[in-house]
Amino acid sequence: MQHRLPHRPTGIVFVVSGPSGSGKGSVTHPLMAADPRLEFSVSATTRPSREGEVHGREYFFVDRAEFEQAVKAGQMLEHAQYAGNLYGTPRGAVREALDQGKDVLLEIEPVGARQVRAVMPAAVLVLILPPSAAELSDRLRRRGTDSEEAIQRRQAAYASELASWPLYDYLVVNDDLDRAIEELRAIIAAERARLRRLDMQTFLDRNYGDDE
Ligand code: 5GP
Repeated sequence: MQHRLPHRPTGIVFVVSGPSGSGKGSVTHPLMAADPRLEFSVSATTRPSREGEVHGREYFFVDRAEFEQAVKAGQMLEHAQYAGNLYGTPRGAVREALDQGKDVLLEIEPVGARQVRAVMPAAVLVLILPPSAAELSDRLRRRGTDSEEAIQRRQAAYASELASWPLYDYLVVNDDLDRAIEELRAIIAAERARLRRLDMQTFLDRNYGDDE
């Protein structure tokens, strides 16, 4: 008989938040690239696309009317306004991935994270922060993809993101990228190993039962 590992009846939702400039994308992307069981949730947004962004990969770029229609139709798992634009997580893709036993990673801000927590209490919320406010501002400017006005608006949002820390389960301080990636990898591994998420009975029956 084959000795299989315990099965997880449903996938895990990982919510990762962090101010723009926290480097959350640099932390999450290598993990997702290396782990086919971890699927990125592509959000919808009304913000204009940045250079290099592809519709359906980074975001679904939609207009306000389309976005509001989707919210009205109940198609968004959560949604929020950030720096003047609307952002939301399409519910269908998340459901589908979870049903296939895949884990889903949502990169969203705290207002949305709170909504996810309310409807999916088993979701794991991770906050990624830069080591200091000064470092954040440097990184935003170095990135060079945003106008000065957009940078100011993003910095204003930083305070509210910091204040939302009690909502989260884990903190990763991104002062060293490799270490931050390793920490998030460990968090994901630990959550996957949680016994209460596993179908332990089937595992015991199959691997340790009398009928072998
Ligand atoms: P950006 O415009 O820099 O890509 O994202 C701005 C902020 O919106 C980031 O904090 C990002 O995590 C957040 N965000 C991206 N997609 C979503 C979403 O679907 N819902 C919510 N609530 N926030 C999102």
